[in-house]
Amino acid sequence: MRPACVEYVAATSVDDVLEALSDGTTDVLAGGQSLLVEMAARGESPRRVVDINRVAGLGTLTGDGGTLRVGPLVRHRAFESATVGGPLGDLMRLVVCHIGHPPIRAVGTMLGSLAHADPAAEWPVLAITARAEFVLTGPDGSRTVPAERFFTGPFTTVRRPDEFLSEVRYPAFPAGTGTGYAEDRRVTVYPQAAAMAAVTVTGGVVAAAAIGLVNAGPCPVRAHAAENVLLGGPLSDAAIGAAAEAAAEIDAGDNARRVRKAFHVLTRRALTQARDRC
Ligand SMILES: Cc1cc2nc3c(=O)[nH]c(=O)nc-3n(C[C@H](O)[C@H](O)[C@H](O)COP(=O)(O)OP(=O)(O)OC[C@H]3O[C@@H](n4cnc5c(N)ncnc54)[C@H](O)[C@@H]3O)c2cc1C
Repeated sequence: MRPACVEYVAATSVDDVLEALSDGTTDVLAGGQSLLVEMAARGESPRRVVDINRVAGLGTLTGDGGTLRVGPLVRHRAFESATVGGPLGDLMRLVVCHIGHPPIRAVGTMLGSLAHADPAAEWPVLAITARAEFVLTGPDGSRTVPAERFFTGPFTTVRRPDEFLSEVRYPAFPAGTGTGYAEDRRVTVYPQAAAMAAVTVTGGVVAAAAIGLVNAGPCPVRAHAAENVLLGGPLSDAAIGAAAEAAAEIDAGDNARRVRKAFHVLTRRALTQARDRC
């Protein structure tokens, strides 16, 4: 099906982007791998799109002072190689190969996925698991929002229509952190369920734990109760089993038994993998 007609603005500067967004009915066009697909399916279309692909400086991926900074034009595939080091880079490499397929990863962007806020997408859950900060830029300057407060529902975030997501900052995981990822994907293009883990072990006990769940609710979910089960003790099989059980205690709606079973198994797998990579 052909997309609905929309006005197209090719921005060449951040000022152009902000001017276009100021009318409140314009959407940013980054990789187009969600926006154009929705428009082609005649889903909800914006009145106008502002293409940010010609704006210099938006494709930067830098790591300074222990913080990874990702710009709006950094494509998914940038995270396939060893560009990002340490346990954070390890987790990104584990996750990115599950996003779509190579042509989508060559064009789609991490920040586009975060702004899109699909509860079945991988990057939003990685952002909350890694305690990222989101920078939103609008007419009055920039503001910073912690990842866990950015997502407010399926495909909705705290971003105002006149703002764009200009950077995402990831603090490095401490030394001694192991990461894991496990997903259940059958015939759909997105995972039906997935679990992500980053566990820091110091002196034989868990000093920090973050567990994120994909498609476990309207927003990306951190399994805080499961994390608390792990803190202060060894990362034993018994602890992993108890944490997996706690993670599966989600509001699963229909098919609750099957869904909880899936999150139990996936969390156990992700935590076991994290332990092996500590
Ligand atoms: C066949 C197929 C399979 C896929 N499989 C997966 C999958 O398994 N997992 C997964 O996570 N994703 C999957 N995707 C989606 C893909 O990851 C997209 O690339 C991503 O969701 C959006 O990134 P984009 O750069 O293409 O954004 P766009 O499509 O350009 O934009 C998406 C939305 O975000 C907004 N937006 C984009 N950038 C910004 C910004 N900087 N500031 C504010 N708003 C912005 C746009 O206005 C739009 O509303 C799949 C897509 C396809 C077509």
